Amino acid sequence: MRQKLVVGNWKLHGGLLENQGLLNRLKQELHDLLGVDAAVCLPYVYLFQAQALLQDSSIAWGAQNVSQYTEGAFTSCISAKMVAEFGCSYTIIGHSERRALKLESNQVATKRMLNALHAGLTPIFCVGETLDERDGDMAELIVRNQMLNVVYGLDDEAFALAKKFNMVIAYEPVWAIGTGEHASPDQAQRMHAFIRMMIAERDRDFADQIRIVYGGSMTPQNAHSLLSMPDIDGGLLGRAALVAEDFIEICKIASRCYQQKKVFQEPMAAVPVFEA
Ligand code: PEP
Repeated sequence: MRQKLVVGNWKLHGGLLENQGLLNRLKQELHDLLGVDAAVCLPYVYLFQAQALLQDSSIAWGAQNVSQYTEGAFTSCISAKMVAEFGCSYTIIGHSERRALKLESNQVATKRMLNALHAGLTPIFCVGETLDERDGDMAELIVRNQMLNVVYGLDDEAFALAKKFNMVIAYEPVWAIGTGEHASPDQAQRMHAFIRMMIAERDRDFADQIRIVYGGSMTPQNAHSLLSMPDIDGGLLGRAALVAEDFIEICKIASRCYQQKKVFQEPMAAVPVFEA
């Protein structure tokens, strides 16, 4: 059964002192949580700090992007190999803020993903539609187009790496990111099932294993209804990742949802029959 995954995307937030407080809180509260992997994706400059504070904990850490290049005259770029040296397990790829602000195309996102995989990182590949696209009934078309890079854009070697390093897909409707508005559990479930079906076009076993997480204004208030959906395997959190109580509470909710699903899926013990 797929473990839940809760990842914090810190974006352009943090400071040495406040990071220390937040990471130590997470460390104290998030050990021994059944069925949940927790991770934080911080700005590059704090990866060293995350490594120092989290290396003996159950919380993983990662970057928010990696370069499409591996080495060379590319001022300000940071390669996948570099972040891997800081003990990162994850990197976010193709976040809609990168796509919108930096005009990152699907092709560039695919290159970044390939570099991440070759460096042994788990890419969290983000897909999602804008409000206009949803209103225009194009949400599935847009997500399908973004997913084509994963399903058909990776050659066999890269696809094998994606399986080996447990690539993650994040469905993040753009209209829900940072807006306080979230997809309804049914809307999100439909899209997650659609994404899983697309992966099954290439590899049925991987489709069963891959974790598809939801991102877009997830809070402790809406987390249970989202995380109890059969194809929602966790959350990518922005705002809630910066508030220790919220991040911890969502991880605990994810653990409860995992356990509820497990009970549901396990065969019922034989009911004893008593003779009258
Ligand atoms: C995000 O940036 O990936 C995100 C989901 O942000 P928020 O939770 O704030 O909507």
